[in-house]
Amino acid sequence: MTARAFALCLLVLALDARAAGAPRYALRYDEATRSMQVEACLDAAAAQVRFAGDGSATRSLARFARTGGGAIAREGAAWVARDWRAGECLHYRADLGALAAAQPRRGIDARGDALVSDPASWLLEPDDADDVLVRVELPDGVALSAPWVPLAPGDGAARYRIPRTPDAWMGRIALGRFQTRALRLPGGTLHVALLGHPDATQRERLLAWLGRVGDVAVRAFGRLPIGDVQVLVAPVGAQRDAVVFGQSLRGQGNGLTLFVDVAQPSSAFEQDWIAPHELSHLFHPSLGERGAWLAEGLATYYQNVLRARAGLMSPEHAWRAFEAGFARGRDASRGSALPTLEAASTRMGEDRAYMRVYWSGAAFWLGAELEWRRRGLPALDARLQAFAQCCLDPPRSWTPRDFVGRLDRLGGGDVLAPMFESWRVRTDFPRTDALHAALGLRHAGDALRLDDGAAFRQLREAIMHPSASASR
Ligand SMILES: [Zn+2]
Repeated sequence: MTARAFALCLLVLALDARAAGAPRYALRYDEATRSMQVEACLDAAAAQVRFAGDGSATRSLARFARTGGGAIAREGAAWVARDWRAGECLHYRADLGALAAAQPRRGIDARGDALVSDPASWLLEPDDADDVLVRVELPDGVALSAPWVPLAPGDGAARYRIPRTPDAWMGRIALGRFQTRALRLPGGTLHVALLGHPDATQRERLLAWLGRVGDVAVRAFGRLPIGDVQVLVAPVGAQRDAVVFGQSLRGQGNGLTLFVDVAQPSSAFEQDWIAPHELSHLFHPSLGERGAWLAEGLATYYQNVLRARAGLMSPEHAWRAFEAGFARGRDASRGSALPTLEAASTRMGEDRAYMRVYWSGAAFWLGAELEWRRRGLPALDARLQAFAQCCLDPPRSWTPRDFVGRLDRLGGGDVLAPMFESWRVRTDFPRTDALHAALGLRHAGDALRLDDGAAFRQLREAIMHPSASASR
């Protein structure tokens, strides 16, 4: 090789290294002290590097050191290193045990068999960094559940890509002696962690149920909208229902947490609406508090539609669930001087305005669905499928207006944007008579009767029928 070729080769290598310049992390978990040793290496030299998390756990982080021996100074919730040399690494220790105890709302009480924490609180990242690449070393028998994207393992360690998301987006990782299982579906994998030591029968029952729920979601799109989804199943003792609560989280990747009574029979899990609801949140981007009515409305709409399509409930039952939900929404929207739907969304927790927000949103999407189908335009499944392809990765927040505008453009018709502008400022519960009339849903006393006139039947089946999948 000539000197010139050699120099060129070095240059190419250097450029390559910069192109692949994602921060490289190594995590080593110590079970005895319930702590994580973190190493963060950056290829590029810099006058200053500022490492920060969400600032909620600074007291649980200690023993900071740099491989170059330089200083690292705490500045508020961040650690700042000056004169960073190329290839240098930062080391520190995160006391995850102390942190989990200090974050009861983010963690889970799994009776000591799993340590659950929000990674944004202890995994410090350089400002403006790309996605982080991480290798994780765990003691034998200890499992990790994270929302991160798994990569091929290397040197006997698990490896992941950690998507860069805003620190304010909550996420969960669990470490401990629990069982994990990958449920592969078209388009992606549900990475399931079963906390709380379910026995063999309970385990198979939970996995069969989650497989079915995954199937239900796939029916809308032909594939999972997201390639890798963490599913944390957390036991909560004896309850009236099989699933008592669920959360869909976006911090550092996509994750669902489902709080379940593992002792319930299969039939109780089949009646659950929470898991299909949470899975439906994967179909839309983060829409912020102002967009809660759109986000929750979408999941509330699909929680019934998907179960009917999957045969978990009859179409009649699903329409009755809509009717009952709209009645609850209407009841919760009585009184004068109601805030706008958008304002109610931003104060949903304080005002306990869940019913109004969720079911107003469900009426919005059902109204749009009917309008699209009436005009022969691509309906919601197809639009969300197209949205997943263009816009869900990399993850970012969308304003509600930009989201509905994009869905309009993805299938044509200009239906959503004008609806959105009038609905977001409405101060009443939407009237659902026109929806009912279009669908042939008739009241007979307290009961709901389905008018089987051909047009009604066709429209109802187009929404609830198993063939109403993304293939159309
Ligand atoms: Zn929800």
